[in-house]
Amino acid sequence: MDVLKKIGIMGGTFDPIHYGHLVTAEAAYYEYGLDRIYFIPSGQPPHKKGRHVTSAEDRLLMTHLATAANPHFYTSDLEIKRQGYTYTVDTIRQLHQMMPETEIYFITGADAFSEILTWKDPVTLLNSCDMVAATRPGYTRSRVIDQVEEIMGNNADRLHFLEVPALAISSSDIRQRVHDKKPIRYLLPESVENYIYKHQLYR
Ligand code: ATP
Ligand code: MG
Repeated sequence: MDVLKKIGIMGGTFDPIHYGHLVTAEAAYYEYGLDRIYFIPSGQPPHKKGRHVTSAEDRLLMTHLATAANPHFYTSDLEIKRQGYTYTVDTIRQLHQMMPETEIYFITGADAFSEILTWKDPVTLLNSCDMVAATRPGYTRSRVIDQVEEIMGNNADRLHFLEVPALAISSSDIRQRVHDKKPIRYLLPESVENYIYKHQLYR
């Protein structure tokens, strides 16, 4: 394959991956003319120390199941293979080293984006890639955005807002639903749903 011009990165715990993640990634693929989207499940997520996180192996496999059918979706074990906590800034740096000629679009939901200044080394992160914040239609700018634009300075045009319709779906809600024996059908791919039941996750 030729050198990739632009890729999208969707990081997350993916515990489990759901249609909110997939719809957002597909919208970014289309909107910014990306060649591929890489889904990168986190190893030990630093901000989720408090609760039990499903094994990396289960989260990786569910991500593979969810992305397999889309020809421009890929799943990477880059963060899971790394020891200790994983940080986005390190992942982006590593990707730049692996593909120096490729532009990187880092995709987040507005909820994650609004916490970005608490992540490791946000100034480096914000100046190392394009940032896509997925928002709900009608979303109002938060104060974080002014701070982020200040940090990005001349690069502020590399901050993008993308309206997606599926933002109400969350992994925590899906886990709670499984626990409560409520349906999760149509919130995530059937293959992932079957995996959850077969492996008795979230009970
Ligand atoms: P949890 O409820 O456990 O926090 P989550 O649904 O937020 O899980 P994560 O794996 O934490 O999923 O999120 C990975 C990335 O996907 C984050 O950038 C988050 O903002 C984004 N995201 C999560 N849900 C949606 C959604 N419904 N639409 C768009 N983006 C989403
Ligand atoms: Mg979340």
